[in-house]
Amino acid sequence: MNYVITPPVQISLPVQGTEARFPVRRVYCVGRNYEAHAREMGTDPTRELPFLFQKPTDAVVSGMTSIPYPPQTRNLHHEIELVVAIGKRGVNVSPVEATTLVFGYGVGLDLTRRDLQQAAKDAGKPWEWGKAFDNSAPCSALVPAATIGHPDSGRIWLSVNGVIKQEADISELIWSVPEVIAFISASMILQPGDLIFTGTPAGVGPLVPADRVQGGINGIGTLEVIISDSAHH
Ligand code: MN
Repeated sequence: MNYVITPPVQISLPVQGTEARFPVRRVYCVGRNYEAHAREMGTDPTRELPFLFQKPTDAVVSGMTSIPYPPQTRNLHHEIELVVAIGKRGVNVSPVEATTLVFGYGVGLDLTRRDLQQAAKDAGKPWEWGKAFDNSAPCSALVPAATIGHPDSGRIWLSVNGVIKQEADISELIWSVPEVIAFISASMILQPGDLIFTGTPAGVGPLVPADRVQGGINGIGTLEVIISDSAHH
């Protein structure tokens, strides 16, 4: 195949236990999927239908210890999340069969320009600019379901400069992983390479340059990034 420009690099994530990598296709993100977080965002934490947004594939970064503070925000927030990596195509799957689509799991950060997101919300406009910016989806190495199964519980946590800011258990997800997979597959064809960020627990808060962010989910993995000065001068 000839291209008029050099094709973009395939974004991928490392996988524990192998040199082979997981190629990323789409990045789906679930909003407000823990009750206490829905409350802290000022919304009713009843079981409304899941809602989703996407990040661009190349927002996914791994093995990158330093992430530049993004432009056009004064309120960059951390959101630690369980990430599901899809390994098989799925259309209209039931929650019972949903886990058969899963290749593995990881730990992700849904970095959010909260001020831009809030301004968009207030104006009834899309969240896009608050969520879908460069480097906004750091992710750990994936661990295959073939190794750990399909965890439905485990401590999820995030610290900033060693101080715990977010702490919950993935069993507290309002919409479970199988339910989220079933919901997406009713609306979109899930394909191998898709990632699903499943939502963040309470305790989201601001990051500033030089902050050291660590997070993890027991039994799945850990993630660490340092926020550096803005690359946009
Ligand atoms: Mn999120």
